[in-house]
Amino acid sequence: MTSSTGSSRPSLVVVTGPSGAGKGTLIRELLKRVPELEVTVSATTRDRRPGEEDGRDYWFLTADDFLARIESDEFLEHVAYVSGHRYGTLRAELERIRGNGEIPLLELETEGALRVKAKVPGAVTIFISASVDELERRLRERATESTGEIGERIALAREQLRQAGAFDYVVENDDLDRAVEELTELVRGLLAPAGTMSRP
Ligand code: ADP
Ligand code: 5GP
Repeated sequence: MTSSTGSSRPSLVVVTGPSGAGKGTLIRELLKRVPELEVTVSATTRDRRPGEEDGRDYWFLTADDFLARIESDEFLEHVAYVSGHRYGTLRAELERIRGNGEIPLLELETEGALRVKAKVPGAVTIFISASVDELERRLRERATESTGEIGERIALAREQLRQAGAFDYVVENDDLDRAVEELTELVRGLLAPAGTMSRP
């Protein structure tokens, strides 16, 4: 693992990686263990999945509303993902979380993550990796997309896995408990004041 951030506290943390890598699962576990972090609620134009809530999982916007917010420069970053759905991080989310004295945690696909890394001083980017076979198995098991859309996500995942080296850290999500532990130790180390934790 390499660090590009030195010893100061991160301005925000980005968790990225291909669909099905386990970003959402790992983030849920990380939040239980590192209370200084708060997840930004992204905006999206995709349909709501069963169990998802507006304002908790995403801000579910119409395509017109999303475009209007692009026009008024409300997004830190935004992308059009598979099937043309848009996703973006609202600047207001960062302000809200920092106002609470917490550090924003962003879950982004790789293009948005690279943009944030280039644009935001002090951002730390963590890539969650898994094998292509494992990604396909997990997406089919999760069964939240159509077969065609799973195929698109897998094709994109192959490309995204090749980008792993562009990020500050890579965590392999093979065994879930092991990966949770590695990610937690990594983030705790980044948040600790310099000199209070041993570094690898
Ligand atoms: P992402 O947010 O990256 O798209 P999810 O967190 O939704 O991925 O995980 C995709 C699926 O894989 C979910 O059904 C989740 O329960 C499962 N999963 C996550 N991590 C592991 C793991 N280490 N081993 C097996 N299954 C996992
Ligand atoms: P899903 O439809 O599975 O919830 O998310 C699809 C992908 O969009 C995931 O890889 C997720 O990390 C990414 N994503 C979610 N919100 C944002 C965002 O605000 N910006 C970017 N760039 N990607 C996002």
